[in-house]
Amino acid sequence: MEKEAMEGHVNVMLPQENLRSDLPNGGIVLGHDKEISTLQEEISALRSRQRHLNRRRREALGKLIDLKGSIRVFCRVRPSISTSNIKIKSPVTVEQENIAVRAVGIKKDSSVDRVFDQESTQDDVFHEVKPILRSALDGHNVCILAFGQTGTGKTYTMEGTSDNLGAVPRAIQELFSHAAQDTSSTYSFSISMLEVYMGSLRDLLAPRQQPLFRSIEGNTTCNLSILATTSGSVQVEGLTDVAVPDLKKANQWYCRGRRSRSTSGTNVNNVSSRSHWWVGLDRVSACAVCSGNLNSTQFYLVLALSVCSLTRITIRRCGGVTEQVSKLWLVDLGGSERLLKTGASGLTMDEGKAINLSLSALGDVIAALRRKRSHVPYRNSKLTQILSDSLGDGSKVVMVVHISPSKDDVGETICSLGFAKRARLIESSRELSEVR
Ligand code: ADP
Ligand code: MG
Repeated sequence: MEKEAMEGHVNVMLPQENLRSDLPNGGIVLGHDKEISTLQEEISALRSRQRHLNRRRREALGKLIDLKGSIRVFCRVRPSISTSNIKIKSPVTVEQENIAVRAVGIKKDSSVDRVFDQESTQDDVFHEVKPILRSALDGHNVCILAFGQTGTGKTYTMEGTSDNLGAVPRAIQELFSHAAQDTSSTYSFSISMLEVYMGSLRDLLAPRQQPLFRSIEGNTTCNLSILATTSGSVQVEGLTDVAVPDLKKANQWYCRGRRSRSTSGTNVNNVSSRSHWWVGLDRVSACAVCSGNLNSTQFYLVLALSVCSLTRITIRRCGGVTEQVSKLWLVDLGGSERLLKTGASGLTMDEGKAINLSLSALGDVIAALRRKRSHVPYRNSKLTQILSDSLGDGSKVVMVVHISPSKDDVGETICSLGFAKRARLIESSRELSEVR
């Protein structure tokens, strides 16, 4: 059933060959007009049948995804990046949907909707994400969120590398490829990209990019405001939204947005590697000077930890007379590590708090939604305000929780799995209350 629901696309074969062979060298034949009109009727009947079948496919897919849970939680374990030849046993072991963490004094078992082990590929992850994209094309708002400690592979899963594309470029590809195949509807797409940092929003596709330090300083030009419309949808006022007519243009804009990120070209996980380190220091020295007494090393680290990167694809689908607009959000959340471990203090401590606040606000929102609370605390953070029309009823959410296989990160791993469990428990308690 799942396969049918995903692929329930009907190909209409037009009997054009017959039409042509009946025409004697393009001459006018008596009765030909009648034949054309019969064929046109057949075409329109087939089109209407195709629309009907597509509608049924959409309903089936919607039900299927609802059965699986409108919030699906996956867990991906990053491969070990040990430089030594000695193989150290990881405290994390996985099996199908279960994750076991074993260390001195620690015994924790968790389950999620799907585990991706250390050998998992970008293909494996995208295979699970793909059905949700069809939901976005069918008119639902969709969020795909990468959660986890810094260095566990959030950006790898979302962006990937040039050899191993991540979920965002694959999703863009999939949207265009589906649009080209679906003859019963016409689609148009537009893209926006932004960063949330310390409660400020920064437009990554704005015509003239703000220098890095201006956004850090809280310059108002990059502090866009969020508006809720009467229809319940959310708009980020002034956010650049670029129409992308084809895949090539979409990729160009996506790459441009990536280059504009505060953390582009940096990798906090490799911070001990000298080359990255110096790139980082070069880029932040101006900011550190601007902000007075900041230690540039600390500053760089916290910047890389604290920024949430969001890509929004707006999908307009026109089938027959109706037009449906939906949003696909692809979100690389800031690092979820605890403050103690980063050793942050002063201003950096505030930044650490800001990102923890966004993430805990996200957890609270998911909790309130699943418990069907009348008040959902969207307003508690910029992140949850922006996503407020894409997390609630009718929306589909995939959260990929990333964990490290390393012994040193066990504490963080337990925290991340706790976050995953919270989101899933909420889903199962909803199912229980519905059964009753
Ligand atoms: P995060 O965004 O969570 O801070 P990154 O995505 O930057 O983490 O990943 C840290 C490092 O680990 C990067 O060098 C990345 O290429 C590598 N990495 C992460 N996950 C994988 C994976 N599944 N396979 C191969 N390399 C990975
Ligand atoms: Mg990252």
